[in-house]
Amino acid sequence: MTTTAIAPACAMPASATAEGQEQLWERAWAARRELGPRAVVLGHHYQRDEVIAFADVTGDSFLLARRGAAATEAELVVFLGVYFMAEAADVLRAPHQTVVLPDLGAGCHLAECADIFTVRDAWAQMTAALPGKRVIPLTYMNSGADLKAFVGEQGGAVCTSGNAEKAFRWALSEGDAVFFFPDEHLGRNTACRLGMAPGDPLVWNPRLAELGGLSGDALARAQVILWKGFCNVHTGFTVRQIEEARAADPDVRVIVHPECPRPVVEAADEDGSTEYIIRRCEELPAGASAVIGTDWNLVNRLRLRHPDKRISCLREDICPCVTMNRIDLPKLTWCLESLAAGEVVNVVAVDEEMRRLGRLALDRMLALA
Ligand code: SF4
Repeated sequence: MTTTAIAPACAMPASATAEGQEQLWERAWAARRELGPRAVVLGHHYQRDEVIAFADVTGDSFLLARRGAAATEAELVVFLGVYFMAEAADVLRAPHQTVVLPDLGAGCHLAECADIFTVRDAWAQMTAALPGKRVIPLTYMNSGADLKAFVGEQGGAVCTSGNAEKAFRWALSEGDAVFFFPDEHLGRNTACRLGMAPGDPLVWNPRLAELGGLSGDALARAQVILWKGFCNVHTGFTVRQIEEARAADPDVRVIVHPECPRPVVEAADEDGSTEYIIRRCEELPAGASAVIGTDWNLVNRLRLRHPDKRISCLREDICPCVTMNRIDLPKLTWCLESLAAGEVVNVVAVDEEMRRLGRLALDRMLALA
């Protein structure tokens, strides 16, 4: 693990060259050097260039949470990502570590599609309507710590976009049906990987008071019940964009994230998690072209990392994830300088019982591997 390189590993990105940014860049690196191995900085792939440059480790949310916990020489875990990721890092952290998020307002639209009160209500209605049927709750990594604790308590597990298929298989072997939240699209795409038709999973609409808009009979027959939630970045991709990309370049490879709607995944050449997309871009031969349906910051970095390939975003005018982008150089500078001065700011702390149950759900996911 590359912890604490503690020197600018790359040139200041173009986005940080605006007036005043240069000083911030120097100040942030000075604070980072002062913190030394006492801190580990974790950066999610969707973060801006000017902050990801500070990351000792880059990766997806689960990998980062584990790498933070493994960096035992660090007492401070600075998470460049969104709130649910920092919570997951706090669930897995070592006892002497503290997790901080440079902007506590960095949420996730998808994670916020499901809250503990609405999910508990749905669960109570569903289980009452299905006597004798064992439903296993599964939550996507992109969910609050309280939801991870809830599935831990109810015998369920967490999954990532990389292991959702395995988690669904496990849940269906443990029970009669799986209740997956909060991403309807990842859920449907996973069900299709298991051989189901796109229309087979039922969709529980939390806005509808009675059984999420479903009948008791339909629920009794269902194998997969999906929460009606979505990521506003990945649902910005369309089949038409794929058709236009192919019209412009018939040889282009289309790779999308499984948080995209089913028709987009069907029209693409392949779909997979963020780590899968990164690996596939590495594997493409020189001269190949690919359009990618995921966050723009990541696609832009892949384009720069592979100048011998033509890599672009499926929708070049798409806004990067706005919540991921809340962490910028001024906020990171403030956070690092505060930490270096001994003031531990923006702590993300999950309560102990929630940590215990959330860990149970994460451990069940790990056991699937
Ligand atoms: S890209 Fe989507 S799932 Fe990822 S943090 Fe942004 S809103 Fe959440």
